[in-house]
Amino acid sequence: MTRALLSLLLAIGLRPALRPRLVVVITVDQLRPDYLERYRAQLQGGFAVLLKGGAVFTNAYQDHAVTETAPGHATILSGRVPAHTGIISNVQGVQDSTVPLLGFSGVGASPARFRGTALFDWLKTAEPAARALSVSGKDRGAILPLGHAKQQVYWYRAGVFTTSHYYADSLPPWVQAFNAQRVPFRAAGTQWTLLLPERAYPEPDSVPYENQGRDVTFPHRLPSDSARAAVAFVATPTMDSLTLAFALEGTRALRLGSRGATDLLLVSLSTTDYVGHAFGPDSREIHDQVVRLDRYLGRFLEQLAVRYGRDNVLVVLTADHGVTPFPERSRALGHSSAVRVIPDGVIRSANAVLDQRVAGGTGDWLVMETGMVLLTGRAVLAAHGVNVDSVIAALAAGLAALPGVARVDRPADLAGQDTSDPVVRRWRHQVPPDAGVELVVTLQPYSVWGSPSVAIAMHGQPTDLDAHVPLIFFGPGIRHAVHASRVRSIDIAPTLARLLDLTPGEPLDGRVLTELWP
Ligand SMILES: [Zn+2]
Repeated sequence: MTRALLSLLLAIGLRPALRPRLVVVITVDQLRPDYLERYRAQLQGGFAVLLKGGAVFTNAYQDHAVTETAPGHATILSGRVPAHTGIISNVQGVQDSTVPLLGFSGVGASPARFRGTALFDWLKTAEPAARALSVSGKDRGAILPLGHAKQQVYWYRAGVFTTSHYYADSLPPWVQAFNAQRVPFRAAGTQWTLLLPERAYPEPDSVPYENQGRDVTFPHRLPSDSARAAVAFVATPTMDSLTLAFALEGTRALRLGSRGATDLLLVSLSTTDYVGHAFGPDSREIHDQVVRLDRYLGRFLEQLAVRYGRDNVLVVLTADHGVTPFPERSRALGHSSAVRVIPDGVIRSANAVLDQRVAGGTGDWLVMETGMVLLTGRAVLAAHGVNVDSVIAALAAGLAALPGVARVDRPADLAGQDTSDPVVRRWRHQVPPDAGVELVVTLQPYSVWGSPSVAIAMHGQPTDLDAHVPLIFFGPGIRHAVHASRVRSIDIAPTLARLLDLTPGEPLDGRVLTELWP
């Protein structure tokens, strides 16, 4: 296209469709955007390149209530909230007993619960030759951004990348060859040490509530048994490096971006989430993880630029959620009422009451999933003369009385309420009307859901601590700018659709980020 024609098109408000050879969407699991500020002076790899050259949105959010991995990943390339994707929690995420993993017994994984279409479906309609590769440390991180598409989808399990029978009945030679290097097994006995000199880390290293009180200081050593090391490997920084190497090997083997069509590469990097849960967002470990990931991403982006040319790769970076500090840490910072809320006893009591009313009850009428109370058997209970609504009302009162609980709502009561209240809006974006959700429970800021057996840093609340995520667009046609407008993860898919001149397959909840074209 001549410069004159381009100027003319721009002058009359038309843009030529961007057709990069490869669209790369990188989701860093649990990456809080303040990490990029906090460690900015030490970033010199991929994060630095994206921050310096990209369109950086500093006020981006996952705008739903249950800020977990599965719902978050499902929003990113669908452009729709959990109430519409149907992916409402990790528990009701990708687990699927009908499609085992290749090489493993037990429950497999698929996008069976995902509703509707996603970006790759729209791309495929426009370009039938388009292909996608999606890789992650986690099944849900690899599966959900792609919707139902049966493309190349792989995730990590106990030392190897594999997939489920939903996608394939055998692993292709390039995956087998990659796995045959046995990198995670050979890492047995190796140490995770600090990347930078110790004085570069202001955080205390020895914090007793980190990592459940075990192995809280550097260096962290992998087990000497290779099978155990391969399992523990997923929570070490090298896992992200391995995932990126696997993604690069896949793009080469599948000839992505080299066949005349625009292809899609999705990478979800899981280690930040494992490190964040174990050590918290203010730890020396998360600091080192982010600085190391910056270097890995730098080499990854360099490889893509060498292979395809800088003007042929469009990159998006975001996260599926953030994280709230350990309550112990929050209290030390002045949030004196921060607690771990353990609702198990209240739920168990309510189930026991119902069991007394219906012979043969197994105590699982009511289930709590990260703030959502789900009921099964409402009709059975009603047929036995149980006034279900009064049972639910009593349970709501019991939950509201727990220290750390801010409010308990019935989803139907939120329908007419003001969505400028983020808690109201995020719950309305969360719950599909047919999901059997009777109550939604919101904690006070800095309090987190806990369990009787583990004490980790958590996310999952409709607070900005858990909802605030990075969002950066980088590549051809994208000008460097810092945008402070309030945007959401559901805006990514409509924006990519506009950039690639694609037509979404259904109405979306997000908007096109027109800030990219000032
Ligand atoms: Zn996650």
